Amino acid sequence: MCKKNALVELRYTFGEQLGQYSGRIKTPRELEEMEREFGEFRVYIVEVCPDCSWNHMCASFVLGDGTERKAPRKTRTLEDDDYAAR
Ligand SMILES: [Zn+2]
Repeated sequence: MCKKNALVELRYTFGEQLGQYSGRIKTPRELEEMEREFGEFRVYIVEVCPDCSWNHMCASFVLGDGTERKAPRKTRTLEDDDYAAR
């Protein structure tokens, strides 16, 4: 199998309150900001090998400030252009 030290950790975010941004990969820093912006969303930490695409889920947990919000209004943006939509 692969060299374990080459694995990359990705953080996927899912949640109704994220609206169209559900399913995005986020950095730890972005997660900190999201925790203040959203009431509840789930984070899945997945280890991925860049060489062979081997991957597995390490952990999942819920973040958020507990205040329920409506999903953001859907905006017209390019799929990966999430900064422009803020
Ligand atoms: Zn590998």
